[in-house]
Amino acid sequence: MSQNSSIVGVVGAGTMGNGIAHVFSACSKIEKVILVDLDQSILDQAKLNIEKNLQRQVKKNIISSKIASQSIEKIIFTNDISMISPSNLVIEAVKEDLSIKKILFNQLDILTSKNTILATNTSSISIDKIARATMKPENVIGMHFMNPVPIMKLVEIIKGEKTNNSIVKRTLDYVSLINKIPIECNDSPGFVSNRILMPMINEAAFTYMEGVATVEAIDEIMKLGMGHPMGPLKLADLIGIDVCIYIMDVLHDGFKNIKYKACPLLKDMVSNKKLGVKSGQGFYKY
Ligand code: NAD
Repeated sequence: MSQNSSIVGVVGAGTMGNGIAHVFSACSKIEKVILVDLDQSILDQAKLNIEKNLQRQVKKNIISSKIASQSIEKIIFTNDISMISPSNLVIEAVKEDLSIKKILFNQLDILTSKNTILATNTSSISIDKIARATMKPENVIGMHFMNPVPIMKLVEIIKGEKTNNSIVKRTLDYVSLINKIPIECNDSPGFVSNRILMPMINEAAFTYMEGVATVEAIDEIMKLGMGHPMGPLKLADLIGIDVCIYIMDVLHDGFKNIKYKACPLLKDMVSNKKLGVKSGQGFYKY
């Protein structure tokens, strides 16, 4: 990786954005990470989370305490989007909503150079649709990190119709640099991961709604019976119930198939602000 590849911008400091900023900041080849959010309280919380997660890695001997303190110093926490300009790679991690992402990519396009990789951490939205909001669709790529980012090894790499091969190659290099494993796929609703995962979570919600079993029983059956490390309802809480619904809606719109209709229980939970871990209550209490 060349010397001028070392500034990474991350837009959105919520569940995913703070984890993405964390893993890049802990990489010795990365000089600076610019973490942008509109909301100052989210930025403050992101800083606390990153500090806590870095310390957790120090305790587990994954990184040294020197790397942990250098990492946090490398991150600039800001609500000024123009700070993103010098980035060689920008990763967008804002709400799973096409209209919000399009406005943002239009801004990023103007603010960044012709060589900047414009990556989206979208869980399901078409890379081509996002790329159309820019003047350089060849620079746009899907870089789908898994939650929790500091722990999960996979990054699903989604190539849009116009994504340039050199952008793909540089993106794969960035993923290797942070010790994660990139796996490529094509642009299709939900890509691979969420096309398969989300209908399972949705079905688990239907199973609970219909009184077939308790939340705990559903999760234990899937853990003990299928060898899943975490039950689907606990995973839904971790991902965010609102994010789950949005992904189901993308699958439903994309494939025009009733089997992807979001479970009404998930919609009720969002109306009642039960979004999962981030709101303190979902299928479980936090
Ligand atoms: P989140 O709601 O936790 O965080 C989104 C953040 O973006 C918020 O803090 C919000 O203030 C900020 N934001 C919104 N518009 C902005 C703008 N224009 N400029 C700067 N900041 C802005 O969301 P999340 O769960 O971190 O999801 C982010 C993206 O990652 C989504 O596309 C989601 O589908 C995807 N994703 C989520 C998960 C998951 O498990 N939650 C996993 C993989 C991918």
